[in-house]
Amino acid sequence: MSSTPNLSHGRGYLAIPGPSVMPEAVLNAMHRPAPNIYSGELVQMMPALMQDLRRVARTQHHVAMYIGNGHAAWEAALANVISPGDKVLVPATGRFGIGWGEMAKGLGAEVEVMDFGKQSAMDLARISERLAADKSHEIKAVLAVHVDTSTSVLNDIAGVRAALDAAGHPALLMADCIASLACDRFEMDDWGVDVMVTGCQKGLMVPPGVSFVFFNDRAAQVRTKMPRVSMFWDWAPRANPEEFYQYHCGTAPTHHIYGLRAALDLIHAETVEAVWARHAVLARAVWAACDAWSTEGSFALNIGDPALRSHAVTALRLEAPQATQLREWVQHNIGLTLGIGLGMAPPGSPESHGFFRLGHMGHVNGHMIMGLLGGLEAGMASIGIKRGQGALDAAAKVIGGV
Ligand SMILES: *Cc1c(COP(=O)(O)O)cnc(C)c1O
Repeated sequence: MSSTPNLSHGRGYLAIPGPSVMPEAVLNAMHRPAPNIYSGELVQMMPALMQDLRRVARTQHHVAMYIGNGHAAWEAALANVISPGDKVLVPATGRFGIGWGEMAKGLGAEVEVMDFGKQSAMDLARISERLAADKSHEIKAVLAVHVDTSTSVLNDIAGVRAALDAAGHPALLMADCIASLACDRFEMDDWGVDVMVTGCQKGLMVPPGVSFVFFNDRAAQVRTKMPRVSMFWDWAPRANPEEFYQYHCGTAPTHHIYGLRAALDLIHAETVEAVWARHAVLARAVWAACDAWSTEGSFALNIGDPALRSHAVTALRLEAPQATQLREWVQHNIGLTLGIGLGMAPPGSPESHGFFRLGHMGHVNGHMIMGLLGGLEAGMASIGIKRGQGALDAAAKVIGGV
């Protein structure tokens, strides 16, 4: 093996759960001189851009755009509907639910975390019980993460709505779809979501830098009763601007607007339903390979039940330090970058080297997934990681529809 030349020279593949692979069409659309921000094309692009974002989120309601990452969208959403002292319920299924709750705490909210651990979805029965017990309706919002990118669990957001309705509870349902939008099926209006946050650098395939808060009329009503909302985070002028600068509360993210335009064109040309279906098949190919590897040695999928797994990201376990060894091997030898384990063990601890993640979100197709899986097979063979056989064959059958 030591005689193998270095095989990393070529186009790299960042298979982490965000930022995701960027389409050439997005990069090319961004490669341009600074556009006029007073009038002309950029200004005229905004209404259709907002409309096409709503189509991805499956909502007829409102969207506000922010220069910032997913954390900015978390804060933006909270800033419009949660006042200091308000109570929020956080049913957490990984690092991101915990993180959104921490942000709410920093903004003065009283945060109640229901922690469902690192390998399970939300328990809707327990959420229902908690809501039913809140007779005085102290809970103002439920902060629910659709796909927790750290554990790769997929939560039933429509089920949280059903729990709220069954309890006759008026709390807002706020969903984090930062990892799931344009990957896993999400229906904002049909599922009764009041506020949804997402970013541009995952399923939307644009370099990190802009994020979005979608909200319905119920949430807009709550906003109007807030004692104050910071001018920068206020979603009202952004969603319904009288002047162009109000979309962004200042200078527009010029090049991101062009990149996002190109990404939305790709998504709608494929259709949102077909984008979901593509992610579903690619995810099944990843799982088929992982199932085969898992039959021997320590290789394991973090989420056992396929119905509870995201189609955008897969969290995996290997006996420490093999996960880190594998990531380093594919990085240095074949130009493939895998995601680190997140929130599973203290960073840098010996146990932290037993977790890793595969991002398969956004601009990825069948041959890329076969390349990703083939790269893992090569890495495990080279390192000597004990694993079951037949993984690539199993994945190929899924991709081939056999
Ligand atoms: C990526 C991600 C975030 C954070 O987004 P940043 O852009 O890193 O701030 C929040 N929630 C989920 C579910 C994510 O996947």
